[in-house]
Amino acid sequence: MKEFTCIVCPKGCRIVVDDTGIRGAGCERGVEYVTKEMRTPVRMATSTVRLTGSSLPRLPVKTSAPIEKRMLMRAVKLLNDVTVTAPVKCGDVVLKDILGTGIDFVATKSACRL
Ligand code: SF4
Repeated sequence: MKEFTCIVCPKGCRIVVDDTGIRGAGCERGVEYVTKEMRTPVRMATSTVRLTGSSLPRLPVKTSAPIEKRMLMRAVKLLNDVTVTAPVKCGDVVLKDILGTGIDFVATKSACRL
């Protein structure tokens, strides 16, 4: 038996999956969410990168789309080799095509030059 909390809408249904099937979903979107989670769980990754030329020491970043959970640690590790120079605008791509997924790390904050 596996239990999930659906994150598709604020209702947050508790959905149980066992040998008898999927129970507890308030709607079909929850069933789709759980089916995807069972097959290929994905998450948004957030982190920070080194930033130069700004009063901020680090720049917050996130993935442009959810990335497979099994890749999260490797994806975030890639940021250790990234240094961004200000100015940076929120939404700028900081690291392109993470691990060949087509997903980028993008800035979640703007940073002006000193
Ligand atoms: S199952 Fe449907 S109603 Fe329940 S949290 Fe998910 S999307 Fe919302």
